[in-house]
Amino acid sequence: MQNSPAARQAVVVGAGFAGAVTARELADHGYQVKILEHRAQIGGNMYDYPRDGVLTHLYGPHIFHTGNQKVFEYLSRFTRWVPYEHRVLGRIKGKYVPIPFNFRSMEELFPSEEAAMLREKLTAAYPGQDRVSVLDLVHNPDPDIARLGEFVFENVFVHYTAKQWGMPVEQVDTSVINRVPVVLGYDDRYFRDPIQMMPEQGFTPLFEAMLDHENITVELDTDARSRLTLTEDGRILLDGETFTGPVIYTGAPDELLDCRLGALPYRSLRLDFETLETDSFQPASVVNYPNEEDFTRITEFKKLTGQAMPGRTVILREYPAKYQPNTGMEAYYPIDSEESHALYQRYREEFARYGNLYFCGRLAEYRYYNMDAAVDAALRLSAELVK
Ligand code: FAD
Ligand code: UDP
Repeated sequence: MQNSPAARQAVVVGAGFAGAVTARELADHGYQVKILEHRAQIGGNMYDYPRDGVLTHLYGPHIFHTGNQKVFEYLSRFTRWVPYEHRVLGRIKGKYVPIPFNFRSMEELFPSEEAAMLREKLTAAYPGQDRVSVLDLVHNPDPDIARLGEFVFENVFVHYTAKQWGMPVEQVDTSVINRVPVVLGYDDRYFRDPIQMMPEQGFTPLFEAMLDHENITVELDTDARSRLTLTEDGRILLDGETFTGPVIYTGAPDELLDCRLGALPYRSLRLDFETLETDSFQPASVVNYPNEEDFTRITEFKKLTGQAMPGRTVILREYPAKYQPNTGMEAYYPIDSEESHALYQRYREEFARYGNLYFCGRLAEYRYYNMDAAVDAALRLSAELVK
């Protein structure tokens, strides 16, 4: 796309997966890449570090899972993996039961004859199907199945979703709820992807390896807005000079224009970490608390990473919160709605005049991407750029 020697320079804003993968790909194709990252460290939301000696994810628990072989092979250049299948329990009616809700959860919560009757009815109603949306169950014509659906909806989804998104479940896009199905069987894995792994040494070393390239420089503690200027006539200035190479932006688009058209809504989290001098805190790496508590889940990191650390453990409670730009809060989740996507489109139209400005990643594309999708988006964008 860019041929003159002066143009074989690129600026990448953000050192999460979207930014780091794009930077590495461009660097491998001969670009000199400058990464501007406003945090004090690389890795974006994947950043992990030893907290009191326990490997901890600073931005919430992250598990790599994918069906995308290309993404897996790409990342495998920078890390070895340990297999890890994520299993979550939910604290429901005083018991720990598997989430996604499955036949075992039913057996824990219902009398055995009722659970057996429901198993039979579900197997007959959804032949050959191993997962179903809770909303399908609620609308099933069989009153027993519909009642089960309502039980699961009420006890697993209604209050968790209201806490997480700060609005009634009816107002949350069904695609969000359907990330977590009801399982018609005993598979108790949280994800069904064929590849489920954790990087052997953690995510941060993966990023260090990816960014360890002679063509890449990383400037931390640098808000790109202090270095880049978007001019009215469609140019991008870097430190006051016109910059003609690609600028890949992985932050929130509204913030790049000081929220001129209004703030894009995101959901944030207050993350409350605690180090405990005990071998084990809870029976699974993640326990969801859908109902009574103000937090949504507790993560116990060493059960996620497999780290041996007798006598000590680190836990994290997640309290959902309303996001406010420019307050130091993190924009974690884009909020799916017609209005938010319309506002996002208006921002993208504002940016259309900048021919060398590209948007990639969960914030920049305003999409509820898992990390594999962010990596995939970055690989696609860089393939276009190096053509
Ligand atoms: P980010 O990782 O957010 O990186 C963006 C980077 O840009 C940040 O480092 C930010 O500081 C920087 N930046 C933004 N604006 C500027 C600016 N103006 N100047 C300089 N730098 C800037 N996915 C999974 O696959 N598995 C999981 O288990 C999983 N768990 C999750 C748990 C939580 C709590 C959350 C919120 C997400 C989870 N995800 C998970 C999704 C995963 O975090 C995203 O897919 C991933 O972060 C997307 O990478 P990204 O590069 O687009 O964004
Ligand atoms: N969800 C729920 N109860 C649960 C788990 C998930 O209601 O026990 C809903 C909730 O709306 C949540 C969505 O399903 O936001 C997606 O869950 P997931 O675990 O994928 O969320 P993430 O890990 O991305 O925060």
